[in-house]
Amino acid sequence: MSSQVPEEWKSEVSDILFDSETIQTRIRELGKQLSCDYRNRKPVLLGVLTGSFVFLADLIRNMTCDLEIRFMRAVSYEGTESTGTVTIEGLELLNIQSRDVLLVEDIVDTGLTLKWICEKLEKLQPKSLKICTFLSKKTKRRKTDVPQVDYVGFECEDQFVVGYGFDCDQRLRQLNFVGIYNTNK
Ligand code: 5GP
Ligand code: MG
Ligand code: MG
Repeated sequence: MSSQVPEEWKSEVSDILFDSETIQTRIRELGKQLSCDYRNRKPVLLGVLTGSFVFLADLIRNMTCDLEIRFMRAVSYEGTESTGTVTIEGLELLNIQSRDVLLVEDIVDTGLTLKWICEKLEKLQPKSLKICTFLSKKTKRRKTDVPQVDYVGFECEDQFVVGYGFDCDQRLRQLNFVGIYNTNK
């Protein structure tokens, strides 16, 4: 990618993986496809906090079908390492029975978070449950029995990414690009 990491982030971000223009172009395509697939179905877009909030905000502004937005929270990482346990908050507030639900995730890495969330959501008996993730990691750590992802923004290599919603200890979410975190700093 030709874009340069802005001076103020150079010590923390080693490279740009997807620049703003590339992201917005892809999201326009995704938005078009989703608008078509969900036409006349008034889907519930269920964002998984915190990472997906930037993606979800851009995605819905590229969708033309009627829709609702809800959020839930899943925590599995501390710093750059998975803690191995997933905590889910906000499920009790969801009313998704008989609704077409589109789960909006930031990234699928091992897929464990997704598996947990889907198991819980299925119990709430949605009419349909599809998954849209901004990034999908090509990782050997991906578990085999995780749910299939229906919509993917981009595939990426097995590196720790920051920006465009992705954090490192709650920082760097505000970057308008996805960068590779500089773990040697
Ligand atoms: P999984 O359960 O699929 O292993 O991990 C999913 C969650 O871990 C994601 O929703 C995200 O919050 C976090 N995660 C996984 N890979 C990365 C990454 O490269 N950067 C950041 N910031 N978070 C990640
Ligand atoms: Mg997530
Ligand atoms: Mg995180």
